Amino acid sequence: MASIFTKIINGEIPCYKIAETEDFFAFLDINPNAKGHTLCVPKQEVNKIMDLDEKTYMELMAFSRRIGQALEKTIDCNRVGIAVIGLEVPHVHVHLIPINEMRDMTFSHKVSLTEQEFVELAAAIRENL
Ligand code: 5GP
Repeated sequence: MASIFTKIINGEIPCYKIAETEDFFAFLDINPNAKGHTLCVPKQEVNKIMDLDEKTYMELMAFSRRIGQALEKTIDCNRVGIAVIGLEVPHVHVHLIPINEMRDMTFSHKVSLTEQEFVELAAAIRENL
């Protein structure tokens, strides 16, 4: 069965899209640790990051870096933290989280955004790509 992220990539489930290439897709996390929390996903559906072939792994990191740079331009933060977990969604994804303090990297710490805030944030990040 297709993962929830494959369904997002295929447009079957809506998302606040940030960027797309032939092989990768980035969108805002629906339950963010911090404003601008973004997920970068390879279209290839692989469960664990260590199982990616080396080329896809390196390209995922390069794609994530490009998105992270746009996040740093858009969001007032100290830096962008990176995490790879995958316990909830078994489809490789890199979490990019604009952080000011350590708790922003804690997955039990969440912020809530309105629909309008998600829409405006995604547009602002896209402008800085
Ligand atoms: P992990 O698998 O790394 O533990 O966490 C999965 C992440 O995906 C979580 O941060 C969660 O909020 C996010 N997520 C799960 N389902 C959806 C969804 O349908 N849309 C979006 N945008 N994010 C999701």
